[in-house]
Amino acid sequence: MDNKTPNTSIECTVKQCEHHCGSEDYCALNQVRIATHEANPTVSQCVDCESFKVKAGCEGGKCV
Ligand code: SF4
Repeated sequence: MDNKTPNTSIECTVKQCEHHCGSEDYCALNQVRIATHEANPTVSQCVDCESFKVKAGCEGGKCV
């Protein structure tokens, strides 16, 4: 069971991330870094959370 404190200012649904709160769709970090991998971002898909860290057991797309 995750023992993280949700930061309700950072809503996130990426359950494969080490910093996700598990049962609650929030990030546990105090702050995150958001960036883009595009030269000219136009849609949300162009933007990334650079604080993402894959959760143990989720490597290779297989989350346990
Ligand atoms: S670090 Fe980014 S991807 Fe990971 S839980 Fe926090 S907001 Fe979501």
